[in-house]
Amino acid sequence: MEVVNPATELGIAAVSDADGVDAQAALRAAAEAQPAWAGSAARTRSDILYRVHGLMAARTDLLAEVMTLEMGKPLAQARSEVAYAADLIRWFAEEAVRIDGGYAHRPDGAARNLVLKQPVGPCLLIVPWNFPLAMGARKIGPALAAGCTCILKPAPQTPLSSLALGQLFAEAGLPAGVLNVLPTSRAGEIVPPMLESGVIRKLSFTGSTQVGRLLLTQAARQVLRTSMELGGNAPFLVLDDADLDVAVEAAFEAKMRNMGEACTAANRFLVHASVAEEFGARLGDRMRALTVGDGMDEGVDVGPLIDAAAREKVLGLVADALDRGATRVTGGRALAGAGYFVEPTVLTEVVAGSALTSAEIFGPVAAIETFTDVEAAVARANDTDWGLAGYVMTRDLDRALEVSERLEVGMVGLNTGIVSTPSAPFGGIKQSGLGREGGRLGIEEYLETKYVSVPVRRRSGSGGSW
Ligand code: NAP
Repeated sequence: MEVVNPATELGIAAVSDADGVDAQAALRAAAEAQPAWAGSAARTRSDILYRVHGLMAARTDLLAEVMTLEMGKPLAQARSEVAYAADLIRWFAEEAVRIDGGYAHRPDGAARNLVLKQPVGPCLLIVPWNFPLAMGARKIGPALAAGCTCILKPAPQTPLSSLALGQLFAEAGLPAGVLNVLPTSRAGEIVPPMLESGVIRKLSFTGSTQVGRLLLTQAARQVLRTSMELGGNAPFLVLDDADLDVAVEAAFEAKMRNMGEACTAANRFLVHASVAEEFGARLGDRMRALTVGDGMDEGVDVGPLIDAAAREKVLGLVADALDRGATRVTGGRALAGAGYFVEPTVLTEVVAGSALTSAEIFGPVAAIETFTDVEAAVARANDTDWGLAGYVMTRDLDRALEVSERLEVGMVGLNTGIVSTPSAPFGGIKQSGLGREGGRLGIEEYLETKYVSVPVRRRSGSGGSW
């Protein structure tokens, strides 16, 4: 299958398109490698992950260029993603040797409860195109650290980053069959038989809520463990006491990282009426100053969207908001010529009910609504089926904590526009997903808990001393 550069609309590579036969081969490889990998020393697994971390750091420029060519993000952002992905691998190299269990006295004193953690077994890992390296690393890292073998299915738009990562694992000495990369354009056809095969014990998926829902029903047939990292509709609240320097910078990061194609992207800006005009104007100035273009070019801040359909969807959402009375501060148009470029856009006075307040925009469009009552703003922020990330800008600690606690999301950025870090639990509530990736919880998703009951028989009168 052809891989297309979204900045030029030209093919850059051809990749084997896996079919059902390839999927069966991957299942066999993962199943055969599982016992030895589960039985390997944690230090062995950790050392391999450390080596991959080192290789990723050493090959940052190459990995970043591959990513920019197949996905479009500017090189500087691609380098940041390589660093983030490598950090995730290192985090799980550290976690591999910290898997522990428990030893407890049963209350009646007649037994001991031993609790141990064991790898779940072969995992199917399905990732989207928007963070082609980091989304895979966030799953492969804990899976391998826990002792699970896996099959990684990249998005068809971005198989090259996953294949490059797979090569680094081979170079680092990962035994054959432990990690299998399966690029395919036929996921809908080959994934259900994989889930039904009896080999796969866990499905970890990052992608849209719609596909996540479908995969959950498929996984239910074999009662598979699942982790779901799904879509978001992040509210970004700016209270009247916010430091506007901080708020504008955070808004810019939360909106423009990855051209807005991030599940954590700020989707609805809810700004107190007393600061809305200044906030909108300053964010508009920040966005107007950006250079849009091919991410491979020096000085480019904003790359193309992933494909023509994504661009049409974003432009449609903007047109709908303008039709309903929103004001355009800047942007709102596609760029002429090749590539799926959309101007960085700021709209103010967006009317509640506009499609872009309920859809995941996934593009460089900041939609600003205003409020006068924080209570009502929190209610509006929570008025969505999604619950991934939310952002709060305020200098008042009490309000910061209260709003953070009341937002129905899995992650809150308090006076910051970035929440992703390997050391914190990443994930959502409501229809944004199940489970957490990263942090101390990340590896748990790939571990089963077993308990061994050990009766103790004491000679009467021994008092336990001999
Ligand atoms: P998507 O359409 O759900 O696709 C994600 C992955 O699932 C791709 O590899 C896709 O491959 C595969 N897929 C689609 N249908 C499938 C099926 N029936 N069976 C098996 N696999 C299937 O999502 P996307 O548009 O690529 O990615 C954007 C979405 O991901 C957004 O909603 C975003 O919020 C979400 N996301 C969430 C997180 C998070 O951590 N919560 C992180 C990043 C992105 P094909 O395209 O070949 O079908």
